[in-house]
Amino acid sequence: MTSSLYISFEVFPPKSGTSEKFVGGVRALAGTGSHVSVTYGASGSGRDRSETALNALCDAGFAGSIAAHLTATGQPKDQILALARFWKSKGIRRLVALRGDAPPVGPGEFACAAELTEALAGIGGFDIGVACYPEGHPKSTSREAEIDHLKRKLDGGASHAITQFFFDLDLFLRFRDECVAAGMEKPIVPGLLPIASLDGLHKFADGCGATVPAWLDARFAGLENDPETVRTLSVATTVSLGERLAAEGVDHIHLYTLNRTRDAMTIARALGVPQSVPFPFPATEEAA
Ligand code: FAD
Repeated sequence: MTSSLYISFEVFPPKSGTSEKFVGGVRALAGTGSHVSVTYGASGSGRDRSETALNALCDAGFAGSIAAHLTATGQPKDQILALARFWKSKGIRRLVALRGDAPPVGPGEFACAAELTEALAGIGGFDIGVACYPEGHPKSTSREAEIDHLKRKLDGGASHAITQFFFDLDLFLRFRDECVAAGMEKPIVPGLLPIASLDGLHKFADGCGATVPAWLDARFAGLENDPETVRTLSVATTVSLGERLAAEGVDHIHLYTLNRTRDAMTIARALGVPQSVPFPFPATEEAA
């Protein structure tokens, strides 16, 4: 089965910043012809880890296959822009511009992701993605402000917006319709999260204002001691949502891989995305 679906794969840097497994995982994911999106820690140690990871990936020849996340909070504007120029000199051409969750905005920092996006677009030569929230950001003051803010990011130079994870297709479709009605013509890319554990998912969802539907709770209930079944159901659930999105005209999905490379590759395979790494998937390239 072949497909015109494009999957961007989100990974986070391992604790050490990089490792053979991490680079191997990125190699496998990038082998699909899609790009790999590397998260950025908003705290000092998180930043160091991300920068180590990105340097290692550039040195391994993957600069053209990765997107570097950058967060607005936690460092002065000139420092972030210098980092973006540095990534550009290394060959990185994709960025994801975010505000970041912590620490709070200090003096000399960009106030929000819209300001950061505008400044990064001013550098030129980058394809910039931004975040969006079909169920609203937890700090959002109103639906209208939420939509206006997203429009500002897209008008300010972003090429697309990636959604927070969701499990209810209609939530995404309604949000996409609202964006179109507000005059946004750039792609709203659905972000899909495979489930590593029901407990972990609830904690994550509570923190970012996403809903865990009852059918999903029922599907994963009682499997705390059965990680293999969780894994199988998680892949099946993500593939099913991916297929339904493709049927609604979506041609780009952003997959929050949680560094579970084998699952991500299995999902991509099921959705018809071409792969260069043969199965069975090499254990050495499984996650960070
Ligand atoms: P912003 O766009 O600045 O604002 C978020 C929300 O606040 C808006 O949607 C809006 O509701 C409200 N808002 C802000 N400013 C205004 C305004 N002027 N007027 C009205 N409303 C406003 N975090 C990390 O630390 N590192 C990462 O690598 C990372 N990657 C992510 C990738 C994706 C795809 C997503 C969805 C999130 C990611 N995050 C990451 C989390 C993100 O940093 C948080 O969700 C953060 O709280 C908001 O970031 P933002 O870029 O959406 O912020």
